Amino acid sequence: MRETILEMEQYAKEENVPIIEKDSIKFIMKYIKLNHVKSILEVGTAIGYSAILMASAGEEVEVTTIEKDEKRYLEALKNVKKCNLEKKIEVVFQDAVDVNLVGRKYDLIFIDAAKSQYKKYFEKFSNYLNPNGVIISDNINFHGLVGNRNGDLSKNLNSMVAKLEDYIEFLKENKEYTTKFYDIGDGLSLSFKNEDK
Ligand code: SAH
Ligand code: MG
Repeated sequence: MRETILEMEQYAKEENVPIIEKDSIKFIMKYIKLNHVKSILEVGTAIGYSAILMASAGEEVEVTTIEKDEKRYLEALKNVKKCNLEKKIEVVFQDAVDVNLVGRKYDLIFIDAAKSQYKKYFEKFSNYLNPNGVIISDNINFHGLVGNRNGDLSKNLNSMVAKLEDYIEFLKENKEYTTKFYDIGDGLSLSFKNEDK
């Protein structure tokens, strides 16, 4: 498995696949262990790098992960197989917006797909969160651009960063969830559901 992880890091570099930063995945794996997380939903598989590492953080951990790009989906399947994790990781080849998970609940939901759609994912998938669960979002700083936009950004990048800024506002103002922001890797947020009063 170690070797496959290194190969995946190499592949990601060569093919420009935006896999999670090391400090961030270490932080998440520690969270999984400390909180005895068993069920994980990941939005945005890419080649399976974070899914494989999260699944390996505990014996009982199971991951469902969603990817809409066929090439990446196939690459992820291959990597999961190489690590013998087929029983613990289910890779779903679909647009997350269309996925139906009725009846399922997760201890941890990891949002890491299109940055412009984070709010949409949060609103949809928070319905599948266990009461003591957490929603973790990656790339919340987006290379330091979030909160630091200037005129040099391309139109697309500017609008994407603006959407992330809106998402952060949405999290801060959300009365149902309490969110903590961490300057780890490319920025992480952890959102916890408030207890009903
Ligand atoms: N979590 C991965 C990296 C994911 S990169 C890791 O850290 O190893 C983001 C991925 O989300 C890309 O592969 C992209 O194809 C996918 N994606 C973007 N929008 C999506 C959507 N609406 N549904 C499913 N996958 C999506
Ligand atoms: Mg990411």
